[in-house]
Amino acid sequence: MTRWLSRIAALVVTGWASLGGVAAQDLSALAYLRPEESRVEASGDETWLTLGLTQPVPYRAFLLDQPPRLVMDFREVDFGAAKPEALLSGKGLSGLRWGKFRPGWSRLVAELPGPMRLVSVTQETEGEDGAVIRAHLEGVPAGAFAPRIGAPDSALWDLPQPAPVDTPHPRQDGSEPLLVVLDPGHGGIDPGADAGDGSEADLVLGFARELKEALRRGGLRVILTREEDVFIPLETRVTVARAAGADLFLSLHADIVPEANVAGATVYLLDEEASDEASQKLAERHDRADLLAGVDLEGHDDEVAHVLMDLARTETQPRSRRLAQVLAGAIKAEGLKMHRRPVQGADFSVLKSPDIPSVLLELGFVSSEVDRERLRDPQWRARMVRAIATGISGWAEGDAAEARLLRQ
Ligand SMILES: [Zn+2]
Repeated sequence: MTRWLSRIAALVVTGWASLGGVAAQDLSALAYLRPEESRVEASGDETWLTLGLTQPVPYRAFLLDQPPRLVMDFREVDFGAAKPEALLSGKGLSGLRWGKFRPGWSRLVAELPGPMRLVSVTQETEGEDGAVIRAHLEGVPAGAFAPRIGAPDSALWDLPQPAPVDTPHPRQDGSEPLLVVLDPGHGGIDPGADAGDGSEADLVLGFARELKEALRRGGLRVILTREEDVFIPLETRVTVARAAGADLFLSLHADIVPEANVAGATVYLLDEEASDEASQKLAERHDRADLLAGVDLEGHDDEVAHVLMDLARTETQPRSRRLAQVLAGAIKAEGLKMHRRPVQGADFSVLKSPDIPSVLLELGFVSSEVDRERLRDPQWRARMVRAIATGISGWAEGDAAEARLLRQ
């Protein structure tokens, strides 16, 4: 076994080293996917994934477990309009996604049908300036699955992580402008729900920008967890908010629900016991999308287990609940359509800051044609922005008054 492990490591290094002879100006240009030269082939328990590119790129490849996945990172590749599913042939791989991972870098994640090993990964130049990257995989018994081999532990490749904060953020009391962290869901390799002509990721980013402007005009400080179409893991969204010292965290989504006739805005709270199966599935789908984008949970301690944090959590929960209720009330008062149960709970990872009141707002569900139209209507969005701004300032006032009262 040791022999093929070192072989993989060597192959990955080759992936880097083979670029030594490529002129610098070639690498500064963006590489494009050539869909007609890209394919997935399978025979027995072997799979070949071939990607045609307009030029060679630095890349790395490694495996992750739970579920078994092949992750390939590249210097930015423009995948164009090609849909990753179009490459799947029904065997060899169970799923494929690609997209921007972080500025300047792209990622491809292939879901494997079971435990496999990377037999080889190569990049060959083709023609004048084109390149072909080929990954060869082979099924192995579960005990022989070896994730993370060939994943260099280098800051160059990995997502920047804000420093974890291990003391609770002091509760806001109105003496300083409120710091709101808006979290446009999804992005990059994880586009979220398909909203017809665009993705959930695009829709909620556009909305977050509009909301940010309105909140700033109202004297609040606002930070977005992402400013562009880029992937941010759920855990990092929480860390960003905590590192910034946020007073309030609002995650924005517009998902698909499989149930027919479900429409209207819905505010979600963190609750390990979901309101119903649909809410639980919604939270699970977000965790799964995070995993399939290539997040590795191995070796992660769940949360900072800390007496101070536990105390903060106990205090934060009712504050989040009030935030959800006040927001739902403000949206209703604006005359906007809400779900028949406007406040619901589910185990959303992104709502797990122990010390920041956090809620997730489904602006609507893009599975509903009516909601899709509303989300695209600038007047509707302006009313939703106004409702949220009113809700946030109403909540902040009551919350600050309570903080002052508790301190006495
Ligand atoms: Zn979503």
